[in-house]
Amino acid sequence: MSQLQQMDKAFVSGTYNRFPVSIVSGKGSTVYDENGKAYIDMGSGIGVTAFGIADEKWNAAVTAQLQKVQHMSNLYYTEPCAKLAQLICEKTGMKKVFFGNSGAEANECLIKIARKYAADKKGSDHFTIVTLEQSFHGRTLSTLAATGQDHFHQLFQPLTPGFAHAKANDLSDCIRVLSETNAAAMLIECVQGEGGVRVLDKEFVQGLYAYCKENDILFLVDEVQTGNGRTGQLYAYMHYGITPDAFSTAKGLGGGLPIGACVMSEKVEKVLGFGDHGSTFGGNPVCCAGAVSILERLDAGFLASVAEKGSWVFAQLKDAPGIESVSGMGLMIGIKTEKPAIDVVKACMEKGVLCLTAKEKVRLLPALNISMDELKEAIDVIKAVCAQ
Ligand SMILES: *Cc1c(COP(=O)(O)O)cnc(C)c1O
Repeated sequence: MSQLQQMDKAFVSGTYNRFPVSIVSGKGSTVYDENGKAYIDMGSGIGVTAFGIADEKWNAAVTAQLQKVQHMSNLYYTEPCAKLAQLICEKTGMKKVFFGNSGAEANECLIKIARKYAADKKGSDHFTIVTLEQSFHGRTLSTLAATGQDHFHQLFQPLTPGFAHAKANDLSDCIRVLSETNAAAMLIECVQGEGGVRVLDKEFVQGLYAYCKENDILFLVDEVQTGNGRTGQLYAYMHYGITPDAFSTAKGLGGGLPIGACVMSEKVEKVLGFGDHGSTFGGNPVCCAGAVSILERLDAGFLASVAEKGSWVFAQLKDAPGIESVSGMGLMIGIKTEKPAIDVVKACMEKGVLCLTAKEKVRLLPALNISMDELKEAIDVIKAVCAQ
C-alpha cells in the first residue's frame, strides 16, 4: 500500500472499499495512476464526468466563472443559475427548476413536492410515495426509505415513513400498492442503475403513467443516473413517450462538480413557494457554469452519437464468450458475465480498463464523448477477460 493509501485508510471514514489505485491526472477518457500507468475510464466517476477528465470547454466555463464569483447566497441573482434553469426548461418543456447539490437532494425535493401537492389537493392522509423494488434513490434517510432494497433498510431504523414498494414491470402490482396506500406519487428510474442496469418495459411505464394521470397521482422520474444524454436521449423518459410531472437529475449534469436539479412541470411548478425549501450551496455559480457547458452540447446530433456508440458496444458484447447477457440503453450498459463481476473488474483494471459493477453485473458508464479508439480498446480488453 502506498503512503497515500495508508493515510486515507487511517483518516477517511471506512465507508468505501477502494481499489488499490490512486488516480492523479487524466485527459478525456484516459486517466493515470501515481506510477504513470494509463487506464481507459469506463466509469466516468459513476456517470459524472460526462465529457471526460479536463474537458477544455468545461474547464474554460468553470475557470471563467471561478475568476468572477465562486459563490453567492440565494438572496441574490447570479447569471449561471438562471441560464442553466432556462436551458433545462427550453430543452424539456418543463417550467421551473430547484437546484441542490446531489441526486439524493434532488429526490428530497421531489418527495416534498409530492407530499405538499397531495396534501393540498386530496388531504393529509395522501402522503405515500410508491417506488419499485431494486430501485435506488439515494442515501439520506428519506431517499433510503424510497430505495426499494431491503439491504439498505436494516441499518438505520426507523426510516422516514410514507414509502411503499411495488414490483418493477408488474402493472397490476403497482396499481394495487398505489390504491392500497392512497398514494401521493409514483417514483421510477426508467433504467434502474444501481439495481443492475435493468430497463423498464415501455408498456409497463406507459400503463403506469396512464393510471397515475387518471387518478391524479404524481408521476415522478429519477433521472439522476439516466439523465443528461446518458441513454442516448436527453432524459430517459423521452424514450417512453411520456412527460413526468417532475423529475430529478444530478450526476452527469455538472460534468464533475456537485449539482442536483429538481425539474417541475406546469402542474407542480407552484407547489413550493417562498421559504418552503432551500439550499445554501444550491445553484452555485461555478457548478451551474460547468453544467451549462455540458447541457449546451447535448444536441440531437450528439445524442445520436451516444446511441450509436451504445449500439456498437451491445453488438460487440452480445453472444461473446463468457458473457451471458447485456442490458441497458445508450452508454449505460450492464453485462452479466459467467465469472463474478468483481473478478472481471479486477482483471480489467490489471489490463488498464476501469469498469464498475451494479449488483451481479459489470456496469459501463463511459464519458459520452469517449473516442471510438478508446471504446474499442476497452471493449477488446473486457471481451478478452470474460472469455478467459
Ligand atoms: C446515484 C443516484 C442517486 C444518488 O445520488 P447522490 O448524488 O449520490 O446523492 C439517486 N438516484 C439514482 C438513480 C442514482 O443513480
